[in-house]
Parts: sequence; structure tokens; C-alpha cells
Amino acid sequence: MITAVLPTYNRAPLAFTKGEGSWLTAEDGSRYLDLGAGIAVNALGHAHPALVQAISDQAAKLWHVSNLYRIPEQEALAELLVDKTFADTVFFTNSGTEAAELAIKMARKYWYDKGQPERIEILTFEGAFHGRSTGAIAAAGSEKMVKGFGPLMPGFRQLPFGDHDALRAAISDKTAAVMIEPIQGEGGIRTLPDACLKGLRDLCDAHGALLIFDEVQCGMGRTGKLFAHEWAGVTPDIMMVAKGIGGGFPLGAVLATEDAASGMVVGTHGSTYGGNPLGCAVGAAVTRIVSDDAFLAEVNRKAGLFRQGLEGLVAAHPAVFEGVRGQGLMLGLKCKAPNLDVVKAGYAEHLLTVAAADNCLRLLPALNIPDADISEALKRLDAAASRVEQDAA
Ligand SMILES: *Cc1c(COP(=O)(O)O)cnc(C)c1O
Repeated sequence: MITAVLPTYNRAPLAFTKGEGSWLTAEDGSRYLDLGAGIAVNALGHAHPALVQAISDQAAKLWHVSNLYRIPEQEALAELLVDKTFADTVFFTNSGTEAAELAIKMARKYWYDKGQPERIEILTFEGAFHGRSTGAIAAAGSEKMVKGFGPLMPGFRQLPFGDHDALRAAISDKTAAVMIEPIQGEGGIRTLPDACLKGLRDLCDAHGALLIFDEVQCGMGRTGKLFAHEWAGVTPDIMMVAKGIGGGFPLGAVLATEDAASGMVVGTHGSTYGGNPLGCAVGAAVTRIVSDDAFLAEVNRKAGLFRQGLEGLVAAHPAVFEGVRGQGLMLGLKCKAPNLDVVKAGYAEHLLTVAAADNCLRLLPALNIPDADISEALKRLDAAASRVEQDAA
């Protein structure tokens, strides 16, 4: 018999009742150290006092009015994001998937309005993840996500990740846009080197194509800069944001330059919930904290500490781990043993990690994880790796 909850997830047999910082309390009262942060969502950990305050204050005032009216909380967050980034304008969504949908629509409408309606092709990359809508699965194009859901929306072509020659051969004056995660998350913490991002920007400029960055997972301070592309010193024309920006409240955004957004005039797009006062009040509290230079410096310091410890673990457990990848606190342990075995051994050590493609283990802790919790996480990862070794022996 089918379960009351549609069974599309293979869930761990764990349920939590309370969270505080990097710790979750399970139903049986035991505590788990959380290195997943709800898949890079709880950027400031669980129950951060400033976010509890922001949502409580706003909840007592006003939750939702719809976009038929001005929303001062939405305007404030948009202005903050415009102030801190390449963007001139922002549209708020409730998820990363919805941000992907708008990014795709924005790119197509741009060329339609420029008198080139046939210019619809968007180049994407193997291993990408842009969400689960019909458009987003067509964009990423992986067999696992698209099988059985055809016909797919046309207009996407997947290229090998990080293959500059393939991109050079594929891009032309007919390309509408190139869409890419600067660091693939679901794809296994695969980082596009800075030189590749620069090369990508140059190729887009040479052909007039729009450059879309999907920073749903790698953005909002995760890599130690507010947005990952800042490391390479290049900017996109359109950017998708979600996950961390709400700190746990469902919130997403599309940021764009004035030119890239020029097709999106009155009536061309909308959302009932997007940019509601509650979400934007929380989003502004998250953004103010995370965009602070001193906060980001701390993310980088903690990342250095964590990474150094992880390199030690790789050396100590060569049969389990192969290497460390990623940037800032978007870290991946490329595994030799099956990554799901390591995730399971982590549960036994009361440690939460997230599996990703390419046999990678994702470590996406709260950006403000205390140093003591990093040390504890390394101890538990060490114990989990020993369990995997024992089970294999
Ligand atoms: C999670 C994710 C999405 C989809 O976001 P949802 O909020 O799950 O719809 C899109 N792109 C990337 C890079 C993601 O990590």
C-alpha cells in the first residue's frame, strides 16, 4: 500500500524535534551533529536568535498580501541584494526550481524582444542540477531525472563540465544563454576553475550570449564570498539564488542586470507567494549577517580549519576517502568506499552528512559552526570511516 507521503524519497529512519546551532535533537532525545544544514539551507544553523526574532516580529505583523501591492520588506531585501551584487533588479520566488524557470524565461524573452525569437538554445552542463520542474530537468538533462517524463522542453544542450573546447565548439551567435553552477552541488562538489569561469564570460561576450549562474547551493556565503563567482572576478547577467537565503524559510530569487531583465515587463511573470513579507523579513536578516565582511572572513577561517582536518582524515583512511574538494564550507569528500556506506556510518556516530553524485560525501555545515563543533565533526567522521573499514574487513 502506498504511504500517506508520496514515496519519492529514500529517507533515513530519523526524525527530529528540535534544532539549535549545528545540533539536532531526535525523537528519542539523542543529539546529532548536523553537517548537512538541510542541504545548505540553514546557513546560520538552527534557531538562530536573529532569525527567530525576525520571523516572530514579522509573523505578529503581516504574513502575506500578494504582489498586487507594494511590499516594503521585499523592496528592502531587493535593494540590499542590488547593493551587494552585480544585479540591478530582483524577482523573488519560493524555491530554486522557480528561480530556474524564471532564468530560462528571462533569457528567451530577452532575445524575443531583441527581434531574434529563434535564438532559444541554452547551453548547460553534464552533472548539473537546476531543480525538478519540467523545464529544470530538461535543462540538466540527466537520464535519472528525465526518464519517463518526456516529451522534454526543447532548447537545451548539455556539454561536458569544465571542457572549454566543447563549449567553444558549441557556442555561437544563435546561443541564447549559458547556464552553469560555479560549483556543482548535487553533481558532487565539482568546482569550475576560476580560469574556466573567466573563459566562459569571454565566450559569452564574444557571441552576445547571456551568462546565467545557478548559485542556489554555492551562493549566500557558502564558499566564503557572498557569491561563488566573486572568487573568479567575473559577473553573470542573470543569477539564481535560493537555499541559504531564507535560512530555512522557503525563499529564492533571480538577480539580473537591467539589460538581461529588459524583456520582463508588466504581466510577463508572477508568483502568488513569491516575495511575501514573512520570507523577505527573514531573508533580509540572513543577508545582512552573511554579507558582512567580518562574517565571511570567519567562514574562510573555519573552512581552512575544517579542510586541514579533512586532509588528515583522507590520509588516515585511504581505503575510505580519496580527496577533499570544494571551496569555503561547501566541502566534498570524494570517497573510495561507497559514499552511502559513509553516510550510514555517520548516522551511527550521530553525524549528518549528505551524499552527492560522483561518489562524493557533502559537508555543508552552518556557516557559523563553532570551532569546537568542527573538531567534534572531524572526530565523528574519523569514527565513521573506521566503521566502514571494519565492515569491509
Ligand atoms: C537545490 C538546487 C536547485 C533547486 O532548488 P529547490 O529549492 O529544491 O527547488 C537548483 N539549483 C541548484 C544548484 C540546487 O542546488
